[in-house]
Amino acid sequence: MTLKKKILLGYGVAFAFMSLVIAWAVLNLVSLGKASDAILRENYWSILAAENMLDALERQDSGVLILLLGDTRKGTAQFRESEAVFLQWLARAKDNVTISGEAELVQSLEAHYARYRLQFSELTEMLGAQKLSPEQALGAYQQSIYPIFINIRDECTRLRNLNEETMYAASVRAGGVARRAIWSTVSVSATALAIALIFSLWLAERITRPLRRFMEASRKISAGDYSVEVPIEGADELGHLAGEFNRMAAQLARYHEMNIEQIISEKSKGEAILSSIEDGLLVFDTELRATGINPAARRMLALEFSECSGLPCSDILPAPNVCDLIRKTVENGFQPSVPEEQRIMTMPSGGRRRHYLFSITAIRSKDRHLSGVVLLLKDVTRLKEVEQLKSDFVMAASHELRTPLTSMGMSIDLLLEHAAPKLGDADRELLQAAHEEVHRMKALVNDLLDLSKIEAGRIDLEFESVQVQTLLDYVRTIFGNQVEQKHVELTWELPEDLSNIRADSNKITWVLTNLISNALRYVPDGGHIQVAAKRIGPYIHLSVRDDGPGIPQEYQAKIFQKFVQVKGREVGGTGLGLAICKEIVRAHGGTIWAESESGQGSTFTFTVPVAL
Ligand code: ADP
Repeated sequence: MTLKKKILLGYGVAFAFMSLVIAWAVLNLVSLGKASDAILRENYWSILAAENMLDALERQDSGVLILLLGDTRKGTAQFRESEAVFLQWLARAKDNVTISGEAELVQSLEAHYARYRLQFSELTEMLGAQKLSPEQALGAYQQSIYPIFINIRDECTRLRNLNEETMYAASVRAGGVARRAIWSTVSVSATALAIALIFSLWLAERITRPLRRFMEASRKISAGDYSVEVPIEGADELGHLAGEFNRMAAQLARYHEMNIEQIISEKSKGEAILSSIEDGLLVFDTELRATGINPAARRMLALEFSECSGLPCSDILPAPNVCDLIRKTVENGFQPSVPEEQRIMTMPSGGRRRHYLFSITAIRSKDRHLSGVVLLLKDVTRLKEVEQLKSDFVMAASHELRTPLTSMGMSIDLLLEHAAPKLGDADRELLQAAHEEVHRMKALVNDLLDLSKIEAGRIDLEFESVQVQTLLDYVRTIFGNQVEQKHVELTWELPEDLSNIRADSNKITWVLTNLISNALRYVPDGGHIQVAAKRIGPYIHLSVRDDGPGIPQEYQAKIFQKFVQVKGREVGGTGLGLAICKEIVRAHGGTIWAESESGQGSTFTFTVPVAL
């Protein structure tokens, strides 16, 4: 049976019992109605007829008395009028003979009444023929009419009493019927209600039991238990649903298995990739504890297999600055931008120093929530060694070249001084060109030597607290002549209470003079150069602004690399000045950058820490 039919059946049973109760009540009402109808029909009309007949009889008797008193006309009229009424009610009484003894009574009443009328007719006739005196007429009334009148009156009274008694008995009977009807209706209703209630409870239980099983099974599935099966009871909609539900659970179990297999295979793939890459890879959670370290990283950091997971960053990495950067990444949600040259981690390994270039990447889940940090270590030891070899070579070569170049320069200078007047114009020009080239080469060799020394960390910086004002005063004296010759306006902007800087004053002077001499080289005659200093946080920002040709956007970051010069503007420089500046500033713990718009001058700024 379908669920719909079951529900309809439930309603059907309830309706059936309700109809039964209604039918029962109607039946009782009908029988009550019949009982009262019987009372009306059987007794009421007979009582009414007896009452009216008594009434009419009394009036007839008083008509007779009026006649005897001498008013013949009025007495006769009253008698005949009441006679018609009596006969009419007598006919009604005859028609309504319903109880035993009533028929005989009515018959006797009819007979007596006929005699009564006859006696009256004879009396009126004799009085009319004046055969009787008033005294004789009264005697005749008392002897023959009055006894019949008494008889008829008694019979009418008996007829009324008989019907009244029967009516009382009938009404007692009707009361019994009504009481029975009430009780039977109440008991039928209660039984019907009880049966309907029991049936409804049974039906509700039958319908909700499978639903409870579905709920239980769904709860198990959502808790990850896919082995559930709902029993199929009956072929109704719930039975079909149970079948479909079981199929769905089986399908989910298959998907779940497949997913787990896929996850395992993806995981082992990932692990294989991590194991096979040569770069070290470490994964940290947001508590800065290592949750994954690949074999390469373990090798690089000389970690045992057992001491991998769960260790805090500071126990794994020998460089506290790297852990600091990882912590900052976790705190800010993104990795801090650190220049590549500062992203080198150096560690002793097997009697050598090894260098690792590290990069930090934040891991985000799908909802952009930070779930950890990946640290990638790239072994750049070989690169560093090659760089070291190169810079050693450059240093040695420049060192070896410096002495012969110095003596060549001196010889050419002497020749220019003493032999030039004896030479022809062409020879003198050649000698002049040799003089310039030697000086250019000397500058190049000196710059190369300086740079390679700084890069190799072979220059010792002598840090002291330097007053910026003194530094600028000194620089001003150096450029006094050149500024005048080129008609350049050189201005200084310096707050009075500026803090001292922590610097090697010679090296920082070198940076400043290099920037100013660049500016002087590129500003047009009559141009402006402004040197400014101001404090921002823990740094003093020193800047050199000029209104020269500016630096194209694409060169602004590149010009700090070795030998990079803006195309078409190679005006005798070596292309090493800014690279040396950058190294010196970096060695001071500061940064240097250029801001410029082509054709609108340029500003070079570098920072030096404030002396504490
Ligand atoms: P150089 O010895 O060539 O000056 P630098 O490293 O000092 O080498 O400068 C690199 C290049 O940067 C220069 O060749 C020049 O093209 C550009 N440059 C430096 N300073 C300025 C400036 N103030 N205005 C315009 N260009 C500049």
